[in-house]
Amino acid sequence: SLEAIGTIRQNNVNPIMKPLYKKPLLLHQGYMQWLFDNDGKRYLDMFGGICTVSVGHCHPKVTDAAFNQWNKLVHTSSLFQHPKLYEYSQKLADKMPGDLKVVYLLNSGSEANDLAILLARLYTGNNEILSLKNCYHGMSYQTMGLTSLANYKYKVVPPPAIHNVMNPDVFRGIWGGSNCRDSLAQTSRHCSCREKECEACDNYIRMLKSEFQSTVGPGKLAGFFAESIQGVGGAVQFPRNYIKEAYKIVKENNGLFISDEVQTGIGRTGDHFWGFESHGILPDIVTMAKGIGNGFPMSAVVTTKEIATTLTTGSHINTFGGNPIASAVGLAVLDIIEEEQLQENSKEVGSFLITELDKMRKRFPNIGDVRGKGLMIGVEMVENDGKMTPMSPTNFDDLLDKCREMGLILGVGGYNRNVIRLKPPMCITKEDASFALEVIEKALKSQL
Ligand code: PMP
Repeated sequence: SLEAIGTIRQNNVNPIMKPLYKKPLLLHQGYMQWLFDNDGKRYLDMFGGICTVSVGHCHPKVTDAAFNQWNKLVHTSSLFQHPKLYEYSQKLADKMPGDLKVVYLLNSGSEANDLAILLARLYTGNNEILSLKNCYHGMSYQTMGLTSLANYKYKVVPPPAIHNVMNPDVFRGIWGGSNCRDSLAQTSRHCSCREKECEACDNYIRMLKSEFQSTVGPGKLAGFFAESIQGVGGAVQFPRNYIKEAYKIVKENNGLFISDEVQTGIGRTGDHFWGFESHGILPDIVTMAKGIGNGFPMSAVVTTKEIATTLTTGSHINTFGGNPIASAVGLAVLDIIEEEQLQENSKEVGSFLITELDKMRKRFPNIGDVRGKGLMIGVEMVENDGKMTPMSPTNFDDLLDKCREMGLILGVGGYNRNVIRLKPPMCITKEDASFALEVIEKALKSQL
């Protein structure tokens, strides 16, 4: 019962675990884009367990792949070989452009980014690592330093030589700096520099260069981490040329560019299989997790042969990484994305959602910004004061609760925790999207 759970929560569950809703939601079952609670009530899942259920809850093909493997062989450790690891590594490598062909299989996004830090430091011989403000790259001791969202920062000494530098956000401007949107605000409520050249956006690059000088300095960079679209940070989409320019700075200083595709990978952004492809760059290292396992804990790092050779000196042991079941699940997920054309579906349903949400933005002053690509969407909620004041937690939670009552689960994110995140399983249909839009509109109307 919910009462029993309340008591166990108080006494036996770590107090950090923070459920989304005040009134607990006890989930018993999932099927594709749907979740079912303890009363059998059905919800459309527009968050996919934090952008993780990529092809659908309990997709029958994933379930079959896992159980078939479970009946044959569950664990080998990295001491022995099994065929699924080879099949999966090859299939994943085939999905990568350029020389990104060496695959490490691990267990979580944090672990993947930890390994990327190690590779970058070993390969370059440098120590300094850069990540952007408002980013999330994990919660292990090293990646805690990469993650810069204040909500996830502890007041202990951070890992050394990791710097969080300015972040471009065309809605809110440079974090802590001058605001791109300010210069456009007179003429347009909504800055459109994500699509167009914007003179003010050059400031972002200028500021990044200056912060690079003051934190790392020439010739000392090991690696630069960026998500293609910031996920936990609230689907923050960069100005058009920003990543390309950042890439140039990294290359001029002999550093490695690491693309964290934990949320943006495997077709979710619609136009491309990997988010970085939309920025026209070829990273040196790509990290991924979440959606590659459709809910099964697994992650991967992909890099070039040349970079991979630097690890041999210390070896790299991982008990569970590349586990037979994980490899079988990963293979099934990649097959399903192809067979069911889920990248194409993400593009189509995502574009529909973004267009319709943007129309809604014009009708509801509480919607400050609509952004994203494919099924990686953010809707930033504000107070109706014309000042972009983040929507109050009371109003925001009320909105989420109302949607839940009407059978819709939404995600949450952003520095101010005022961004609705829509990252559903990629199998959702236009009808599902229309249902989600209807519910959100009803909830907004009830707040007027
Ligand atoms: N990178 C990104 C972009 C993420 O969103 C996350 C998780 N939210 C991570 C890394 C860390 O993944 P994990 O929780 O599996 O360690």
